Amino acid sequence: MNENLMDKVVSLCKRRGFIFHSSEIYGGLSNTWDYGPYGVELKNNLKRSWWKSVVYERDDVFGMDAAILMHPKVWEASGHVDNFFDLKSDCKSCKKRFKAADLKETKKCPECGGELTEARAFNLMFKTHQGAVEDAANAIYLRPETAQGMFVNFQNILDSKHPKLPFGLAQIGKAFRNEITPGNFTFRTREFEQMEIEYFVRPEEADKKLEEWIEARFNWYLNLGVRKDNLRRRPHGKDELAHYAKACTDIEYNFPFSTKGGSASGGGWSELEGIANRTDFDLRQHSQASGKDLQYFDNVTKEKFYPYIIEPSGGVDRSVLALLVDAYNEEKVKDDLRVVLKLHKDLAPVKVAVLPLLRNRPEIVELAKKLTRDLKKKMVTVYDDTGAIGKLYRRQDEVGTLYCVTVDVQSLEDKQATVRHRDTMQQERVSIDNLKNYLEEKLT
Ligand code: ATP
Repeated sequence: MNENLMDKVVSLCKRRGFIFHSSEIYGGLSNTWDYGPYGVELKNNLKRSWWKSVVYERDDVFGMDAAILMHPKVWEASGHVDNFFDLKSDCKSCKKRFKAADLKETKKCPECGGELTEARAFNLMFKTHQGAVEDAANAIYLRPETAQGMFVNFQNILDSKHPKLPFGLAQIGKAFRNEITPGNFTFRTREFEQMEIEYFVRPEEADKKLEEWIEARFNWYLNLGVRKDNLRRRPHGKDELAHYAKACTDIEYNFPFSTKGGSASGGGWSELEGIANRTDFDLRQHSQASGKDLQYFDNVTKEKFYPYIIEPSGGVDRSVLALLVDAYNEEKVKDDLRVVLKLHKDLAPVKVAVLPLLRNRPEIVELAKKLTRDLKKKMVTVYDDTGAIGKLYRRQDEVGTLYCVTVDVQSLEDKQATVRHRDTMQQERVSIDNLKNYLEEKLT
């Protein structure tokens, strides 16, 4: 485990504008993070890649965007009001709070050795009130998962799209959990984003479809360039399964920190995504609680039944963190240390940086700016003339920019620019007229 690597990634995130501490000028809100200009691009690219792979490239999954606020009865039916608890203990001396699961046999505070309170149940849902009156009748929750928004729309999808089983719904959105032990940068926070699929299947097909989704989701991470050695599948033991699940496999990443609690199973191996067979628990529960029949009618076999649900549920923030850690590289170049984020081309926040070699030559600057305007129409392109070329290259390497295009004196005559490749640092001259095509080809 390389905790030092984590410090370097956190420092790069702040220095270069990927991730900032929330409300920093007020001392920061603990364990809450804001995504800066490069962070939001990386996050959007990741979400786009997910959406493309699970919605656009398939015929059987449809997108959705449900509200964060839902009818309070949803959370009673789902089991969250009764079951979404962690046990916590407080230290009577230093007042620190611990998850009982992390304390194991320890009876003393791990921080100061003080006496601990008895473990008490703590519901992880954020409660608030809807409307002007703050009474129990108006209590409402911030959703702790996006999934329920898809279950309660099952009938709407059947009525509007008339899909045949198996089919799925996909959604990306914010979720909130009042975690007892948040931490490890963006790994465990109280506000985070999920990417979830609810895939409805005939009960007898559920085991097979679970395996197919585990493979598909594992390969998605690999295709985004995550190192194979840092990725594994971990089936849950029977004692670990959630109350609604028959089986679940986590896709884990070997983070450079040790995680306590949660699903960490030793060292830095921690959950990026869980793929569960939720059986027919959700549709049954919502049918009973709402009084609406959420069974599926197969008009070929004339059977009526509750479909099972396979749920691949991943975290946007955890994936972004894993990708940043995985892409971080330090290379010795002569006497210098080059820090480079080797992000996959679809994920890199900036595709091209146009850099004039001499910023005091108006013709060079003009040509470089014109080129930037032109490229911007097709790909994320930035212009930078605020330093010497070596410094500009280093800056772009640190944010993972794929190509640096340098315009120099020679360019004015031969109408060519130098293209430098991020990973190899190799340079080649490319005709300016052909540059857009050349780069587009590389990026697709
Ligand atoms: P953990 O065991 O780590 O608490 P979980 O099993 O409770 O996670 P799920 O309910 O399966 O998590 O949520 C699906 C995904 O949402 C997780 O795989 C993770 O990527 C993300 N996620 C869950 N809780 C958090 C959190 N507090 N902060 C950031 N991401 C989270």
